[in-house]
Amino acid sequence: MDNIRFFVGIDDTDHLEEGCTTDKMNNFINHIINNISITISERRLVRLWPFASRRTRGNAALSAILEIHKEDEKIFFDLSEDWFKNLLLEISKHPPSEIPASPALIISKSVLSEDFYWETVTGHVDINTRLIEIEKYNCKIYTGKNNWGIIGASAAIAWIPNKNSTWELIAWRKPTMIGQKRILDLKKVTDLDSRFLDTFLNRDPTKNRGLISPRTPCPVLYGIRGSSYATLKKAHIWLQSNLDFEQCSDYKIHRTNQLSDDHVSPLNGTVVSKISISKGAHSSLSVFSNGRNITLIAFNEGGPVNKLLRSLVPGDMISWTGLFSPIDNSIHLEKLSLYDSVPRILHRPLCCYTSMKSAGNQQSLRCSKCNNKSIKYWVAKDVVTNHIKMVNNWAEPSPSNRRHLSKPLEFEIPLLNNLIS
Ligand SMILES: [Zn+2]
Repeated sequence: MDNIRFFVGIDDTDHLEEGCTTDKMNNFINHIINNISITISERRLVRLWPFASRRTRGNAALSAILEIHKEDEKIFFDLSEDWFKNLLLEISKHPPSEIPASPALIISKSVLSEDFYWETVTGHVDINTRLIEIEKYNCKIYTGKNNWGIIGASAAIAWIPNKNSTWELIAWRKPTMIGQKRILDLKKVTDLDSRFLDTFLNRDPTKNRGLISPRTPCPVLYGIRGSSYATLKKAHIWLQSNLDFEQCSDYKIHRTNQLSDDHVSPLNGTVVSKISISKGAHSSLSVFSNGRNITLIAFNEGGPVNKLLRSLVPGDMISWTGLFSPIDNSIHLEKLSLYDSVPRILHRPLCCYTSMKSAGNQQSLRCSKCNNKSIKYWVAKDVVTNHIKMVNNWAEPSPSNRRHLSKPLEFEIPLLNNLIS
């Protein structure tokens, strides 16, 4: 029997306070499975540019690759249309919001240009440009009155997994539980780390806080991240075998671009200004990089990044990753490394327990007590950074203050060090 392969993308279905696109994609696939036979080869969860003005929470879009029998094609599209109409109806009942959902469902027979992904993960995308570009493909697009969701839905289809991809198992809550406090045992979440070594970011060790559950009233019970599909399934079954743990209604494993650093490129530069610290304890300074001055900002939540930035002085040479914010025209730092520092000047040499003083231009140093003379020099020491938590000389925020897209330092020391050498 002949099969047809489809790429399906969904985005912008959420209200800020309710719903979740992961749940919508699962719901869509279930709607199709309940009616015709399909094979799903992969589900994907794709994080996009964190500064997108229309983002909801983590700015994630969903896609899936599925196959159906050729003779079911018409019914597949009919089912998709029905499902989308229902989605619009459901969304029309959302409470008013500054960013109302603007959903899109894209069904494509062909792979979309990977450029769609890279444009959408690294910067702003104009909806009209994307609409013109997507017309070249054989796609069926469903939208409501607004069509912003096309940007994320097409990017999710266009993403091509690579060696940086990871997996996330998402477990959803029973409908009766949505909105109530999640019943999770932090001890079990902590044990995930040691029992299932291929899982990661289960908790923030600096805050003894679980990271697998969202804090919003959305339908997600938890998400377990890891490098192995098989391990995630085992970890989930282990959590659920425990009656202390809230039981899920369903779960699925997604391939994702989380922790890939796809949204940023590392850069080098030389510090050219003193640090300035704002009321909220955020720090900023100016660097010279690739022929221009750039402002770098570290927020208080950045922890070690903020501390390291504050220890810098003009002349220090640094590397960083971060996102350019068009709002304040500066780079919001995600990772920072000091790879060559200027000496920190302490004082003139001491004599009689006090600093010697310069007697004037082109004159020697002199002790004001005993009149001893010395050639001019400064007593200096190296920058002190041993109070700052770093991995191979790089600083990053604690796990709960990182973006979904940010690659943890322990994942990619080699690449960052190549940049420096
Ligand atoms: Zn002296």
